[in-house]
Formats: sequence, C-alpha cells, structure tokens
Amino acid sequence: MGHVDHGKTSLLDALRQTSLAAKEAGGITQHLGAFVVGMQSGASITFLDTPGHAAFSAMRARGAAVTDIVVLVVAADDGVMPQTLEAMSHAKAGNVPIVVAINKCDKPDANPERVKVQLAAEGLLLEEMGGDVQVVEVSAINEVGLDKLEDALLLQAELMDLKARVDGPAQAYVVEARLDKGRGPLATAIVKAGTLVCGQHVVVGAEWGRIRSIRDMARKVIAEARPAMPIEIEGLKGLPMAGDDIVVVESEERARMLSEGRKKKFEKDRLTKLEEERPKASEEEEEEDETKPERVEVPLIVKADVQGTVQAVTDAVKNLNSSQVFLKVIHAGVGPVSQSDIDMAQACGACIVGFNVRDPPSSIALAATQAKVKIKLHRVIYHLLEDIGNFIVEKAPGTLETQVAGEAQVLNIFELKGRSKSKGDDVKIAGCRVIDGRVTKSSTLRLLRSGEVVFEGSCASLKREKQDVEAVGKGNDCGLVIKDCFDFQVGDVIQCLVQVNRKPKFVSSESGAVRIEC
Ligand code: GDP
Repeated sequence: MGHVDHGKTSLLDALRQTSLAAKEAGGITQHLGAFVVGMQSGASITFLDTPGHAAFSAMRARGAAVTDIVVLVVAADDGVMPQTLEAMSHAKAGNVPIVVAINKCDKPDANPERVKVQLAAEGLLLEEMGGDVQVVEVSAINEVGLDKLEDALLLQAELMDLKARVDGPAQAYVVEARLDKGRGPLATAIVKAGTLVCGQHVVVGAEWGRIRSIRDMARKVIAEARPAMPIEIEGLKGLPMAGDDIVVVESEERARMLSEGRKKKFEKDRLTKLEEERPKASEEEEEEDETKPERVEVPLIVKADVQGTVQAVTDAVKNLNSSQVFLKVIHAGVGPVSQSDIDMAQACGACIVGFNVRDPPSSIALAATQAKVKIKLHRVIYHLLEDIGNFIVEKAPGTLETQVAGEAQVLNIFELKGRSKSKGDDVKIAGCRVIDGRVTKSSTLRLLRSGEVVFEGSCASLKREKQDVEAVGKGNDCGLVIKDCFDFQVGDVIQCLVQVNRKPKFVSSESGAVRIEC
C-alpha cells in the first residue's frame, strides 16, 4: 500500500521478476492480483496487489483481511503523503503490522532519513528508533534491496508466528473476480487455512458452485490448494465480489440453500441502505427549508473489468451524492458495455460509466448514439470521477441566491411635489453615487441606514443625467426612485440585489479525494 506514484506497481513488478511461478508462465503480464515469490530457502511470500487510489479504499479495507503484513511503500524523494497515512490507518484498523519499503532510493534527491522522521512523527514505531517496525531502503527500478525486503517480511512472519492449519476444509477469500467468455465466472482467491480441493461445493459470498478446476499462478491446473496459495477457481454460478469468503459445504443442495439465504439478506441490506441514503437529503431538508430545490435523481450503469473495481467505482461514485443530485446505480457489472446495458440505459434515461473496459464495438456505439445514451469510458479513476462530477454539476438544479450586485450612497434628496393625479403621486428621488458594482433598474433595491435594512422594494426609476437608463456603473451619479419609499436620508446606502442560480461545484484535493460542494 502507499501513495500514488510512490512505486507500488514497479516494486511488485520487480518482485515478480524474482517469482518462480511468473517465470514458469513466461512472465505473467496479465493482471492477476496476487503472485508468489519463492525463496532460495524454500520459503515463499505471497504478494497481493492492491490498487492505489483513494477510491479503492473499500477494496483495500477488504484486502487487509486477507493480508498478514502490509508493505508500506513511501518514495524517498516525496516522503509521507495523504495516501501513505490512509494506508497506515487501514493497516491499523485491520490490525496488520507494517514493514516500510522506502522506494526510489536511487534518486539524487532521495532522503530516506527524512521519510523515517516523518513516519515516526505519524506514530510509526520504527525499529531503529526502538520500536518494532522494520524499514528497508529499496529501488524498484534498479532492483536494489529487494532481497532485504523479502528477508524483513519473513522475519516479520516469524515474529508473528504465522502458521496456518493445512488439513481440513478450506477457508479462503476472493481477491478478484472476472467473467471469462469461455470459462464463465473466475475468481482469484487466497486460501487462508485448510485445503481447497477440486470438485468441492462452495458458497462464495452470495454465489455458489462446484469447483471445476483450480489453477495456480502459473496457470497450471492443480488438484488442491493449500494456505497462502493464490489460485484461480472456475465453476461458480455467478460472479462473487472481491473480499467475499469461500466456504466449503458438503452438498450442492446445501450450497444452493446457503447462497439463496445470503442473496436474500444482501438484497434486504441493500434496500435498507438505499432507504437510509434517501431521506437524509430529501425529507429532512425539505422540512427545514422549502425553498431548496428538489433533488434530481440521475440513474447510472457501472461497468468495470473485475468485480472488485465494479464495487470500488460504485462506492466512489456514490460518494459524489449531494443534496441536489442523487446518483442511483441501477446496475453494476463486469465486462464491456453491451446491448442490454444500452437497452436498460435507454429505458431508464441512464448514463453508462465504464472503467477499464474495452471500447464497445462500433455496433454498440452506434446503438448508444441512436438511443441518445451517454457512455463515459475511463482508465484512470480520478478522470472518471472528474467527468461524473462535471456531469452532476450540469444536472444539478442549483440554488437561487440573493447577491448584492452593486451599492450606491445617497448624496442628495429631491422631492417632486404637487403633481396632479394624472401625472401620478409625489415622489422622492435619491441622488446617489454608485460606490461598488452596478445598479440595475430591473432589480430589487434595499435601503440601508447605519447598516440596518429600513426598506426593500423594486426600482421605479433609474436616471443618469435626466435620461432613463437600465444600469449605472461604479463611480457614476444617478437618480433613484424606489417604489413606495419616501424615507431617504443623506448617507443611506442602497443595495442592488440580484437573484443568481448557484450551481454546486466539483472539488478535488491534492490527495485525489473528490466531493461535490453545494
Ligand atoms: P504506483 O502508483 O505506486 O504503482 O507507482 P508506479 O510503480 O507506477 O511508479 C510511479 C513512477 O515512479 C513511475 O514513473 C516509475 O518509473 C517511478 N519509479 C518507481 N520506482 C522507482 C524507483 O525505485 N526509482 C526511480 N527512480 N523511479 C521509480
């Protein structure tokens, strides 16, 4: 774990180079989410690849349940950053010890000592300062220090006395799941305890199946999987979610039953959550303030490459919900945008969001254009959120706000008396100078005396050098009449009020966190 660009992927790649399994598979280029590095001593370390952005927090939080040790990657030139702290919180919440890898030590401006001081200041008890957190200086690019990192991890494992039960029914967790055209749902999983055997019936989250095949990370079919082995299992009836547990049951009947029960519970939980989310922004606020605009509901369909990302993107998108726009994910699934997605989007007026999925074939793209369905495809989560943020701003009704567009000071008062009835009533004209902004005829005027409002009304007349005008700018003199106002005094201030529709704003912080500000 660690801040974006601090070298997690590079470090994993460098470690993967030393992985036997990877070599056997001719260098696994495909993203598998997990791999094993075999050591000379016969020991092995299983690395879990956790994506880097804040939006993937949910996935990482789940990942931490499968992880025994967190490698915290901090760039030696950049030091501790927001996501470094976030990773530390996750590790702490999951009660998982940290081994620090200070990366990019090859860089001329690398300053590992400064990183150590920063980490210590954040409460990490480093070994060299009397604590028990090991720190290793590495360079992923030059492949320096990798052996030291591996040793540190093995030492940490030894200190923790990490042991797993090998015999008996397996307990395992899904790291990632995806849909393969030919093979159906595939789940990358890690066995935590026991042995998972091909042919067993399993319940995985709310899905179930009979394990048709188990493959190791070199894509070799194996009969059984033992603790700490990353594997890919085939034979599930549906797609599980990253973080789901895998439970072995004795029969197909029991697997079906358990899966149905869980599905019902998940659906109930989902509906309860949806209900909880809604009234927060509607009922309460409407009661408080009736002038607030109605909340606009924007339906979305989320598609992504693997189940874990689907979940992460859905969660991230929901975080953009505001009192003005409610993003309702009506469907979320794995795989490229399909015709059925377009049909559903057209039926519900939804927008389709695709993350890390292939561009749809031209026939689908054409169907989308004809159905006037918007498809937003992205490969960088921040870009996706920025795009949706702008979309929300566009859809938001905005709030009407009264703003002071200009201010004028009363310098003289003129009275027009004795007018005949046919010419209208007596009037009082305020001879003013505009001291700020603009005063416009079409707006409401507010009369202030010693800072207090004494009158508010529409503008009956605005003249400049005896000519009727629509607006008068700063520094100019003018004659003003406020409808039904006869109480001007020299020194009063007249404010010109305008109604503006203020739209919400999409705000992003340097750490990559985003939100909608209403
Ligand atoms: P991630 O976002 O944490 O996965 O970071 P990446 O692995 O994508 O690395 C971000 C950038 O830092 C890339 O341009 C890498 O080439 C560079 N980088 C990663 N590790 C090192 C290193 O040890 N030394 C140097 N000089 N650059 C590195």
